[in-house]
Amino acid sequence: MGERFIFTKHRTVCYHCHEEADQVIKAVSSQAQVVCANCGATRIFLPRVEEVGAEGAYTPISCYEVWHLEPTAPCKNCGVEGPHDLIVGCNQFTTRCHNCGYTHFYKFNLEYIGQCPIEEEEV
Ligand SMILES: [Zn+2]
Ligand SMILES: [Zn+2]
Repeated sequence: MGERFIFTKHRTVCYHCHEEADQVIKAVSSQAQVVCANCGATRIFLPRVEEVGAEGAYTPISCYEVWHLEPTAPCKNCGVEGPHDLIVGCNQFTTRCHNCGYTHFYKFNLEYIGQCPIEEEEV
């Protein structure tokens, strides 16, 4: 994979298999995905906006539990590797660099069951 950005996990009850399992979260500029490590349920998010934004500019309106995580990731805007806000709701996925405020906003695109590494999405 050419670009390294968000790669983290969140352990919670899976919406699909209803087991407590790691939800593997990956994001690059072109796509974000959340994959259940237990059943392979995958949600794909596609980028909509990339900009330096104010905190809370993309507060999710969600139909169920919103995950608010804080992974360390390299920012493509300021180049600092540091904490990012990572907010995952049922229909959106937002990351924001703590250092410069650079925000990636992704919108839910599709879901499927099965393994499809994000590496294969590269052209
Ligand atoms: Zn699952
Ligand atoms: Zn930054």
